[in-house]
Amino acid sequence: MTALIWFRKDCRIHDNPALIQACKTGDVKAVYIDAIDQHKAHQQAPIQRDFISRNLQCLAEQLAKLGIPLTLLEVSMFDDIPQVLVDFCQQHAIEHVYANRETGVHEQQRDQAVQQTLDIPFTVYLSQCIIPEGLLSTGKGEMFKVFTPFSRAWLKQLQLAGYNLFPAPDAIGPAIKANKLSLKPFDTTASSQHYQAGEDEAHKKLAAFCKQKLFDYDADRDFPAIDGSSQLSHYLAIGVLTANQCLAAIVTQLGHMPASKGEPGFCWLNELIWRDFYHHLMYAYPRLSMHRAFKPETENLRWNSDQEVFQRWCQGQTGFPIIDAAMRCLNQTGWMHNRLRMVTASFLCKDLHLDWRWGESYFMSQLIDGELAANNGGWQWAAGTGADAAPYFRVFNPTTQGQRFDPDGSFVKAWVPELADVPLKKVHTPHDWLNQNQANHNYPNPVVDHRIAREVAIKMFADLKTA
Ligand code: FAD
Repeated sequence: MTALIWFRKDCRIHDNPALIQACKTGDVKAVYIDAIDQHKAHQQAPIQRDFISRNLQCLAEQLAKLGIPLTLLEVSMFDDIPQVLVDFCQQHAIEHVYANRETGVHEQQRDQAVQQTLDIPFTVYLSQCIIPEGLLSTGKGEMFKVFTPFSRAWLKQLQLAGYNLFPAPDAIGPAIKANKLSLKPFDTTASSQHYQAGEDEAHKKLAAFCKQKLFDYDADRDFPAIDGSSQLSHYLAIGVLTANQCLAAIVTQLGHMPASKGEPGFCWLNELIWRDFYHHLMYAYPRLSMHRAFKPETENLRWNSDQEVFQRWCQGQTGFPIIDAAMRCLNQTGWMHNRLRMVTASFLCKDLHLDWRWGESYFMSQLIDGELAANNGGWQWAAGTGADAAPYFRVFNPTTQGQRFDPDGSFVKAWVPELADVPLKKVHTPHDWLNQNQANHNYPNPVVDHRIAREVAIKMFADLKTA
């Protein structure tokens, strides 16, 4: 019997339930289907596309050692996939197709169409989250609407059921020569070379993080100038690494599972719970992957539509040093620190009053770790439209956030050369100093007055309540 493993956002041979099952059947072939125009429509960042391409080559080589050939198929849209799969299965006498589930609504519709078109079994496994999407619910049988009770239920379920790690499958035959695979680039100048590709590299980085930084994560994680977080998100986003494997690495490092706030390792575990939370939300509320607000009443917010102001935000030309440093870092590296994602997102929505969907889409088009559930969750959290218990009048102050989380200005100075000579004390409020000391400086004036912009944002939300 010949089985097909269809790789999607699971570019790995370890902890891959679909691959393990496929390998139990006998002969195995593997495909990756690149729906080029669909990925463009989903704002796939050129740097992420390049990273996926390099990881596919690593995957092809790993699979070749197991005797499994990986073929790249190219289509335009997800709608084209069912027929392409039918043809491939007929040509190769495939009798069963295996894959791992993805949570986005288009991905689910694609899988339903495949299910209806194929005349052979198509089995989908759950491997995106630690606790599978759909498993946790409130006493009323609904998905949790805020994080804290979700995390309690999550921890309880983990204690009850534990977690499963799947080993890599044994070789199904002699090693073969790997196919050369490469995705057609959207932009030939976008390179992910700075990021190491492949499962081995991801695991090395995970082990090093747990050994060297896990214990200090709580204290360091909010400071963008400190390399205090794991920087594993690009591997997790495309499935080179699983959240299960991160959990297992915590347990290996500590010798046990941290169970509550304040315990070493818990703070990082909590981020993995946030990751699961956003996937569970997206699964329970398909409207989230259709550009809809989690809180329906916030659909009535009247956002600003000033393209010029939006471009200043995108290019890091707002005149707010921490915002500009963060955006320039994103544009040049494809990655942004979590604290800065929160601050820049809040700034777009609450200071510039621009629609969170514009920011969500821009982030997606630039991030190497762009991932629908986390990106949408983060944006709606910052905009005040999402699954969050915080009151609508929470508005980050970009200047005090800079002073607090980049106290010596080193992050700002690394990304905003116009401020190179500004004394440290003035880095986050540089305009007076610049105007007095560098008459020809070219750092922009603040795009808004934060105090006034904050009042307007609060009124926008308050008006919703009385409307
Ligand atoms: P660590 O702090 O080491 O955390 C470990 C892992 O946990 C991360 O790699 C990530 O997979 C997960 N994680 C951490 N924080 C969160 C969170 N708040 N929500 C969901 N998962 C989390 N993360 C993405 O992976 N892709 C995105 O497209 C994305 N967009 C975001 C947009 C906004 C507006 C905000 C506020 C957050 C976004 N995040 C996104 C979450 C978070 O910023 C990144 O996961 C994190 O900065 C990645 O760095 P790290 O790997 O060092 O994380």
